[in-house]
Parts: sequence; C-alpha cells; structure tokens
Amino acid sequence: MSRKKHNIQRNFFDCVLERNGSVCKICRRVFKGNYLTNLKRHLIEEHKSQYESELRGLERSEPVEKKKKVSVTFGSNEVKDACVQLVTTEKMPFALLDTEPFKKLTCQIFSGLNMGPITSRNIMEHVAEKYKTVKASIIKAMTHKLISLKLDIASRHSRGILGVNAQYYEDNSIKVVTLAIIELNKKHTGANLSAEIESTFIEDFSLTKSQIYSVTSDNGGNIIKSIEILNEDSDDSADDDEEELETQVNVCSMASVKCAAHTQLVQVMLFLRRLASWLKLCGHQPTGL
Ligand SMILES: [Zn+2]
Repeated sequence: MSRKKHNIQRNFFDCVLERNGSVCKICRRVFKGNYLTNLKRHLIEEHKSQYESELRGLERSEPVEKKKKVSVTFGSNEVKDACVQLVTTEKMPFALLDTEPFKKLTCQIFSGLNMGPITSRNIMEHVAEKYKTVKASIIKAMTHKLISLKLDIASRHSRGILGVNAQYYEDNSIKVVTLAIIELNKKHTGANLSAEIESTFIEDFSLTKSQIYSVTSDNGGNIIKSIEILNEDSDDSADDDEEELETQVNVCSMASVKCAAHTQLVQVMLFLRRLASWLKLCGHQPTGL
C-alpha cells in the first residue's frame, strides 16, 4: 500500500494539540493520540461510504511527492528555547505561533515530547522562565567585578523608555550585557530616575554602588542629576560582600561620563541651526532645519 493511501485516514481528522488527540471532521468525536489503526476502524464503522469514496478518488489522482519518515532528537527545553528565541532575538510576532504552518511543523514534535503546544497565549510563561535563567547568569558574572553602566532614554509620544547596559571585564575581554529596558511611568526628573536606576538596575541585579566605576549617559540635565543623587548616597561603608572588591580597587564614586556620540550630535544640531539662520539671512529658504 502506498504511503499516501496508508495515511488517508488523516484527511478525516484534525490534530488537537491541547489534548494530544485527533477529532473526526465528520462527527467531531475525539480520539486520544494519532493511532492510524483506531482512526481507520472508526472510519470503516461509522463513515464507510465517505472513506471508500476518498480511497477511490485517491486511486484516480496523480501520484504525489513521496513522504519520508524522519527521526529527530530534541529535548523539550531545546524546543521551548527555540520558540522563545523566535519572539525575542528574532523579533517575530507572537501570532506566528498560532499559524497553521507553525502548527504543522511542530505538532508531531510537541506530541512526541509529550509537551503541550507553545502558542501566543503561553509563550510569555516561557519567556519569563528564560529571563530568570539569563538574569541569574548575569548576576553571577558581575559579582565582585567593576561595572560601567550606560544609560539612555528614548521619549516619543509622551512615553519614555530607559535602557541600561553593563560592561565588565572577563576572560581578557570586555563583556556588554543589557540589564533591562523599561518604561518610565513617572516624570523624568533626576530624583525619579535615580530611584528607578537604583531599584531596577542596581538592587535588582545585586550590584553595589561601590562596584560601579562609571555611568555613561547623554548630556540631559535630569540624567546627570540622577547620577549625582546616586553618588550622594554611595559613600556608605562597604559591607562584608564588598570587601573583596574594596581591597582591589578603592572606588569613591561613580564617574559620570558624557557620551561622545551624543555630544557630537548636539554640536552637529547647533551647526545646522546656525547654517539655516545664515542661509535665511542670505535669502535662501532651507527646509527641514
Ligand atoms: Zn466520525
């Protein structure tokens, strides 16, 4: 019997991932698993005429591509990680996980691993799980190391987003990690920013202020002020955990470093505005400046 003829039962059933089963398209009866023998028995007993008609149609149809049974080796964590990667680093929309092609490609993998399907509804649970693991490894890597932070705020349509990177030295190279990108829900004052930086990026990542060697930011008065406020509170004496670091380097305060690229940007904007004024004086009508 050809492979296509052998699998013809599947044409009468939908795969139900949630229940790891099959549902008859004619009478909607649900069967556990995808056992072809059970499905065929049901068709012969309950829907014999439709089944035979399908078989006759198949015999008349053109030969189709030969299917091949493939054997793959996966762990459920590997499959979860790949799905998380799709919607995070690969920036794919969550809806991708609900599409028919994705279900078709993954249905037998989920079933074979005895795991529930990953969909747009439950992917965030897996993202949160992965976040905890990645965060724990970052915290471990930064323990007792000098850290340079880089801060930047993007504001658009009355929403503000703060992103913070950390740099540290490890294995003869500088490592750069993104600690978090968060939405700012309070006014972007120096006091509010310093409180947010302290709770979300310093305390939450088990850093101590004496570990932070420098903070690089743009020239925004509020950001500069927030670093000043953090410094005001950072002269408290080191606790036991900090002793190892303190014996190596005595860091009195975080150096506030103004980002060269932002500084250059301001200079370029000032130059363009001066140029626009000068062109207007000369009778030209520049646009876009
Ligand atoms: Zn049926």
